Amino acid sequence: MARVFNFSAGPAVLPETVLQQAAAEMLDWHGSGMSVMEMSHRGKEFVSIHAEAEQDLRELLAVPANYKVLFLQGGAIAENAIVPMNLLRGRNSADYVNTGEWSKKSIKEAKKYCSVNVAASSEDRKFTYIPPQQSWKLSADAGYVHICSNETIGGLEYHWVPDTGAVPLVADMSSHLLSRPVDVARYGLIYGGAQKNIGPAGLTLVIVRDDLIGQAAAFTPSAFDYKQQADADSMLNTPPTYAIYVAGLVFKWLKAQGGLAEIERRNIAKAKLLYDYLDEGNFFLSPVEPRDRSRMNVPFKLRNEALDEEFLKGARAHGMVQLKGHRSVGGMRASIYNAMPVDGVQQLVAYMREFENKHG
Ligand SMILES: *Cc1c(COP(=O)(O)O)cnc(C)c1O
Repeated sequence: MARVFNFSAGPAVLPETVLQQAAAEMLDWHGSGMSVMEMSHRGKEFVSIHAEAEQDLRELLAVPANYKVLFLQGGAIAENAIVPMNLLRGRNSADYVNTGEWSKKSIKEAKKYCSVNVAASSEDRKFTYIPPQQSWKLSADAGYVHICSNETIGGLEYHWVPDTGAVPLVADMSSHLLSRPVDVARYGLIYGGAQKNIGPAGLTLVIVRDDLIGQAAAFTPSAFDYKQQADADSMLNTPPTYAIYVAGLVFKWLKAQGGLAEIERRNIAKAKLLYDYLDEGNFFLSPVEPRDRSRMNVPFKLRNEALDEEFLKGARAHGMVQLKGHRSVGGMRASIYNAMPVDGVQQLVAYMREFENKHG
């Protein structure tokens, strides 16, 4: 069996030991005589899987007791609508910071539910930086302030937490949640799809401060009402059981690695390997301001775009796949999530060096 180094932005690489465990437990989970996929979500086996996953996630992120952890469906794109439905709480505007493709999508969707104040934007320089907080024009009467804390396509990451005073801060953390410790108390709500850095597609994580729920707009579908879901332990509808199970295995894997501080240390080292090489010469270009670069998603370009196809073909021949950049920005992108071993990044850099030597 030959496993590739998978640099996909998502769905993405998962830890091999997690996949092996899921395979070993496929036909008979812990003597139950059935697969997790076949279990009733209300049976004691699955209820224990669900509770343990929540407990492990709370431990990893040190989630304070006054926050609810919800395991939902619909992905971050559904959250773009569900957040305003729940968090406006009678107000009619929200502040959004526009740092790229995912922020733009959030803004467009929110406009269906409220008036959107774009408090800051980096569109003027093609989303290559995060506007510093001094430049933000926040409004006091906003229901919340929304950021995308890691722009998966553009490769920008907040390495600081905005201060929004009494107005709750909401973050789409889809592509870097669990890549580093987070001070959850600084946020009103954190959300993210699991398929980037956590587990299979189909599971959406929401972590929300409990005083912010229970005031959803009257038209909010019950399955999208955080309060109703919190009261039902995320089981108002049938939850994505298998995705929760695999995410739970990933949480255990993270704990066994030493938790998020250790994972962050490794992620810093992996990203440094790649960015240091990109900055070494000028055969490859890294478009993002160094201080705002993402540790998870590293977009880069070949100065000579005519070589793009050959670069990708050679990478595939070396067992490295999914390096093509998002269609909206072109070039290349290496997503180096938690489960990407340092060896994969070293091999990528070695291949880039070899390619540059041949064509530079
Ligand atoms: C992938 C991604 C999304 C979209 O997630 P879906 O699960 O497809 O809804 C939204 N925001 C960010 C930052 C992403 O990386």
